[in-house]
Amino acid sequence: MFSARLGRRAAGVSLVGLFGAGAAYIFIPDKSRSAPTVDNPSLSPSHFTRATLTSSEPSGPNTKLLVLTVHGLSAQTKAPLAPIWSVFIKDDDIQVERPYTPLEGIDEHGRMLFWIKKYPKGEVGRWLHSKKVGDTIEFRGPLSTWAWKEDEWDEVVMISGGTGITPFYQLLHSSIAKGQSKTRFTLLHSSPTPSELPPPEMLGPLREYAAANPQKFGLHLFVDRPEGGVPADVRLGRISKPEIQRCLGLNTPWWRSMFAPSSEPPARKIMFLICGPEPMINAIAGPYGRNFSQGEVGGALGELGYTSRDVRKL
Ligand SMILES: Cc1cc2nc3c(=O)[nH]c(=O)nc-3n(C[C@H](O)[C@H](O)[C@H](O)COP(=O)(O)OP(=O)(O)OC[C@H]3O[C@@H](n4cnc5c(N)ncnc54)[C@H](O)[C@@H]3O)c2cc1C
Repeated sequence: MFSARLGRRAAGVSLVGLFGAGAAYIFIPDKSRSAPTVDNPSLSPSHFTRATLTSSEPSGPNTKLLVLTVHGLSAQTKAPLAPIWSVFIKDDDIQVERPYTPLEGIDEHGRMLFWIKKYPKGEVGRWLHSKKVGDTIEFRGPLSTWAWKEDEWDEVVMISGGTGITPFYQLLHSSIAKGQSKTRFTLLHSSPTPSELPPPEMLGPLREYAAANPQKFGLHLFVDRPEGGVPADVRLGRISKPEIQRCLGLNTPWWRSMFAPSSEPPARKIMFLICGPEPMINAIAGPYGRNFSQGEVGGALGELGYTSRDVRKL
C-alpha cells in the first residue's frame, strides 16, 4: 500500500513511502493544482498536456502497463530528458493528480510507457486502470525525481520494492541505451510474490543486460512468499543486511578500510538509492526525517557504515 506522504514540491517530487505494499497510510487529500491545460503538445511542469491512452495491458494481479502518446510532439521536446523524472497525471473526474514514472522516458513518437499499480481504495491508480484505449489523459511534467550525474559514482546500488522499481528502470534504460557509463549498477528488487514481480517487458531487458554485462550491471530479485513457484534467479526472503553484503561482495567490515595500508586502491565512490514502501525503507536505510527530509541513515546500510553522503531515499 502506498503511504500518502505526498510531498509535492515546486522543484521536484518526493517519493517518500509511496511505493510498494505494506506502508502505513495517512490520507492527505491531493488536489490538482490550478495549472491550465494547453492545446499544443508541449511539455511543462506548469501546464497540463493532453495525451491519448494508446495501450493498456494487465501485467500482474494489480498492475498494468499503460502507454500514453502525445501526438505532434515538437522536435525540441524530443531531446532526451535526463533521468530520473516523472509526470503528474490528472484524474479529471475528481481533479486529483499523482506522479508516475515513464519507464523509458518519452520516445520520438511522443510515447511514454508506465507500470502502474492500483490499490483497492486508491484514487488515481484505479481511475487509470479503468481507462480505455483512445481515452484522453492529461499530465504535466517533467519533474525531477533525482538528478543522475554521469561519471560521479563508481557504483550505484538501487534497492526497490514493488512499483518502486520504476525510477530505477528509467535510470537503467537511459544508461543501457547510451552504453558508455563508467558507473557499475546493481539493482536489488523485491516483490511480495512471483506474480507481482515486474512483468517480462521490464525484467526481460534487465536480465539480458545483466547476463551479457556482469561487470556493468548486477540484478538480484527477491520475493517474500513462494506462491506459484519461485523462478530460478529469484531468491525467497527479504532484502536484508546479509543479502546486501552478499550481492555487493562486501565481506570486509567497513571499518577495516579505515586502517587499510596506503598501497591499497582507493575506496570506490558508491551511491545507494532506495525506493519502496516505508517499512522497507526504514529497514534498509532508516526512516525519513521531519518535513520530508532524508533523516539519518540507519537500518542495514547504517550498520554497514554508510552515511547520508552515500544514501538517497527517493
Ligand atoms: C515521483 C513519483 C513517481 C511515481 N511513479 C509511480 C509509477 O511509475 N507507478 C506507480 O504505480 N506509482 C508511482 N508512484 C506512486 C503514485 O504517485 C501514487 O502514489 C499511487 O499510484 C497511489 O495513488 P492513488 O491515487 O491510486 O491512491 P491514493 O488515493 O493516494 O491511495 C493510496 C493508498 O491509500 C489508501 N487510501 C485511499 N484513501 C484512503 C482513506 N481515506 N483512508 C485510508 N486509506 C486510504 C488506498 O487504499 C491506497 O492503499 C510514484 C510516486 C512518486 C512520488
